[in-house]
Amino acid sequence: MSVTESSPSSASPPDGTPVIDVVDPASGEVVGSIPVGSAEAADAAVRAARAGAADWARRSPADRSAILKAGARRLREHAHEVAELQTREGGKPIGDSMGGVEAGIGAIEQYAELGPLHRGRSLQGNWDATDLMVNEPLGIVALLVPWNDPVAIACSQIAAALVTGNAVVFKPSEKTPLSAERFVELLDIPGGALQLLQGDHRAGAPLAAHPGVDLVMHTGSVETGRAVAQACAARLGKALLELGGKDPLIVDAGVDPEWAAEQAASGSFANAGQICTAVERIYVHREIAEPFIAALARRAGALRVGPGLEDGTEMGPLIDAGQRELVHSHVESAVAAGARLVCGGEVPEGPGFFYPPTVIADVPADAPLVSEETFGPVATVRVVDSFDAALVEANDTTFGLAATVLTPSQANAQRAWRELRVGTVKVNAVWGGAPGGAAQPARNSGLGTGFGPELLDEMTHTKVVHLESAPEAPAGGTGVGHGEAEPDLG
Ligand code: NAD
Repeated sequence: MSVTESSPSSASPPDGTPVIDVVDPASGEVVGSIPVGSAEAADAAVRAARAGAADWARRSPADRSAILKAGARRLREHAHEVAELQTREGGKPIGDSMGGVEAGIGAIEQYAELGPLHRGRSLQGNWDATDLMVNEPLGIVALLVPWNDPVAIACSQIAAALVTGNAVVFKPSEKTPLSAERFVELLDIPGGALQLLQGDHRAGAPLAAHPGVDLVMHTGSVETGRAVAQACAARLGKALLELGGKDPLIVDAGVDPEWAAEQAASGSFANAGQICTAVERIYVHREIAEPFIAALARRAGALRVGPGLEDGTEMGPLIDAGQRELVHSHVESAVAAGARLVCGGEVPEGPGFFYPPTVIADVPADAPLVSEETFGPVATVRVVDSFDAALVEANDTTFGLAATVLTPSQANAQRAWRELRVGTVKVNAVWGGAPGGAAQPARNSGLGTGFGPELLDEMTHTKVVHLESAPEAPAGGTGVGHGEAEPDLG
């Protein structure tokens, strides 16, 4: 979906409030609209969440868990409807959208189970005292969510925040607001503990700066993350940041080039490359570079690109015209600097914001395709002479989200997970990992733990309690001064 701000005369409600059009990225057609957002709306959402916060926090964790599970059941009953909305506004193939909704439902159910088990500690104090470490809700959690996997990300973060007793102000991306509105309705959290705030940065920035917010969790670009961190620092508020990436894929000598190409294609072209952990840089050993690049180009050419709601579509459009311009400008500047365009790389005619799966080799190390997040279906290849060189280049970045290594060598695999400065290292599989894996992004890719059971720690505040009994008052005494004689005031 793309966003165009409409002039109040063309697409605004009768009261003249400016709106943002929600656009189907496969057709360019407007499919809805939302308010642009304002400081007043952000303040009203925080106040409404605050009004519901105390009652929500006083509910037992089991009660909160039951409410979330009921919400997940309703979401499951309407999963296809929500997935279809997500495809209309975001462009994903419908199967991928269903996968995202199911992942969201799974995350709600998982946090609903984990919440009541999230516990503090009892400490070993004096015999006549009780000493505890207790996890308490932070209060109001603001969630700033991106468009590229909107339902899964939001469901997970909303569930973690609510189950630990926080009230939530949830601001979805202005590019995917319609699926958000529907699943918030379906979750049906009582008492105002979940507030939906629509709009773009005009809603997000005042929300991040709001003194009534206790934690801002932002999932999005590095640039916005920096602005959010600054807004939080100004009021010493806590920020949890899950940001962009420029993930490397190292293809070592000795691997099957066909299999490596299959892995690379999946890593670079899934969701048209619009995944934070998409493969954005490929370092292939010279020994297998040519057959690997040829196989990768064959796979790129075979992918069926089309509208996400059309049967058989494997790759949808980019989110909007601006994203397509950015992706194409990265490709063009690499070609101008001497890179070899193997396939793709041309903006197609016709409606929507499609871009072909693109393979480009010999890209200079200082090209934006290598140094900046592209977020498009571009497999950027550099040929290296050794595994050592691949490791050095893979680490030569400001990002640190994830990395994948394809290698038959146990020694190289071992070195890779030790030496790569990232939050997640995958060996011989571009996707995958056990449930509960909660990486901390490295370098500019973020701050804190945004997933797994550890997210419940981030969503709570640890309080230490030391509890002793008061000594008994002497019989017949006044109790003043703990049973001591009343002071002589004369
Ligand atoms: P974005 O940072 O532009 O927007 C994310 C959210 O922040 C949106 O709701 C947006 O409206 C809001 N926002 C924008 N400007 C703001 C401001 N000044 N103050 C407060 N809020 C503001 O990111 P995006 O374009 O929606 O998403 C794509 C980015 O998200 C990519 O960089 C991708 O790598 C990243 N991402 C990271 C993860 C992760 O887990 N690390 C997951 C998904 C996406």
